[in-house]
Amino acid sequence: MEYDVLANWEINKLCNFRCKYCFNPDEIKQNPEFRGHELTKIIDGFNNLGPVFLIHMSGGEPFLHPDFVELCTGLTKKHCISIN
Ligand code: SF4
Repeated sequence: MEYDVLANWEINKLCNFRCKYCFNPDEIKQNPEFRGHELTKIIDGFNNLGPVFLIHMSGGEPFLHPDFVELCTGLTKKHCISIN
């Protein structure tokens, strides 16, 4: 896996878990406004920066992003991803 820059990206704050150690308040974890951003803007945003990224995606719960599969498909045309 070759990349230029490693990026840690908290893609949302939405989460359906209740970990005792969590520092994100429930009102944020349950608020759809914290679900994520527009798909094309995200992908273009990374692409327009220039380097190839390794993007570590976390949240919240990243899989609650409404377009998660499409997001990963778009990002991996140029970049590498990991999810935690
Ligand atoms: S945001 Fe992370 S730490 Fe907090 S409840 Fe969800 S999974 Fe647990």
